[in-house]
Amino acid sequence: MWHSFRKFLSPPVFEDDFEKTRRAETLHYASIILFFSLLILFLINLEFGSPAAKAANWLLGLLALLQFLIQWMIRIGYVSAASHFLLAIGWVAMTKINLSVGGIRDEAVFSYILILMASGYLLGWPIAAAYTLASISALWRLAFIEMNGLFVPTIDNANEAARDLTVVFILIFLVVYFLIRTLTQAIETSQRSEAKLKKLIAQLSDEITERKHAQIELKNQAITDFLTGLFNRRYFFEIAQKEFSKALRYERPLSVIIFDLDLFKNINDTYGHAIGDQALAQIGNLLRNTIRDVDISARYGGEEFIILLPEMDCENTEAAAERLRKKIQDTPINVEGYLVWMTISAGVASTATAIAKPTSVKSIDQLISKADQALYRAKRAGRNQVFCYKEEK
Ligand code: GH3
Ligand code: MG
Ligand code: MG
Repeated sequence: MWHSFRKFLSPPVFEDDFEKTRRAETLHYASIILFFSLLILFLINLEFGSPAAKAANWLLGLLALLQFLIQWMIRIGYVSAASHFLLAIGWVAMTKINLSVGGIRDEAVFSYILILMASGYLLGWPIAAAYTLASISALWRLAFIEMNGLFVPTIDNANEAARDLTVVFILIFLVVYFLIRTLTQAIETSQRSEAKLKKLIAQLSDEITERKHAQIELKNQAITDFLTGLFNRRYFFEIAQKEFSKALRYERPLSVIIFDLDLFKNINDTYGHAIGDQALAQIGNLLRNTIRDVDISARYGGEEFIILLPEMDCENTEAAAERLRKKIQDTPINVEGYLVWMTISAGVASTATAIAKPTSVKSIDQLISKADQALYRAKRAGRNQVFCYKEEK
């Protein structure tokens, strides 16, 4: 009960329509105030009114009841229609009361002025102009009635009063007009600058995104080898350093494979340097598709590649290198119609053996250097094989 009464007393809100909400709010409160004023007027009239005023009391009651209709119209979103309805009813009622009572009465003048200002605020200046004209005509009609003695006159010279009030109405209308114009222009200006600001923000965020992309691109270029798309040697060292520290701290195994293409010079000599380049790029692809996600592969230089394998001990790494060696041996690389067969020699070194026995490796450079020594041995032993660095007893 209390909740619905409070809901009835609070104006509706129309999302995304600031103007409509503003008008609905004004109309809502105006209608509530009007309802109670009419009710009080009705009761006073009933008790103390003249016979003529009492006779017109039904109109006050009707007007008060009409406020429920107005409230309902606002709630379902017919704000403009409700404004028109309320103002027109008010205007007609005021005119009717004054015509029946006769003469220019203060109540009429006040309500015309009120209607004039309210119509300007709720419906804009053209409607306010229409009400001004209508009110001026009604004034002159009342003056005519008064001057011709159709009723007991209340003012000495009604024509003069009508003339003065005409000027007052026009002045009030002009004030309303300029106020509305200023208000509208202010709203338009603020909306325009808001739109401009939004556009600027959008442009800026585009620019920032572009710059971020450019930065990412630049960073990618700085860390990748352009021929194979793998990491370059410098970046490999950066990651390897971190992985080595981590492995040392948590006492986890870490391994490295270095491999070198066998007799690659022959491929350059046979097919040309460009084909050699493409063969290297294909090795890059093959490597990317073969290693685990956690492994890090890079072009170590020339036709030499390196892979870092976290959590892998010596034996597992050797097996992985052997699988890679076999895969490269068995997969001819297709470059511009030539099937190029290649083999690799690989060296493996690890910080731990399968039984988690730590080796004496103290730095990533040492680990790589040991793998390099193993690779050298593989080459000397006749190429196309994997050698694992073994600790000297
Ligand atoms: P080995 O089995 O002993 O490694 O013999 P190899 O011929 O592969 O070794 P060597 O060090 O004698 O020659 C390496 C060759 O790799 C020579 C060089 O021209 C070629 N090479 C290095 N980098 C590139 C590159 O970026 N593109 C091409 N096409 N060839 C390269
Ligand atoms: Mg080579
Ligand atoms: Mg080499």
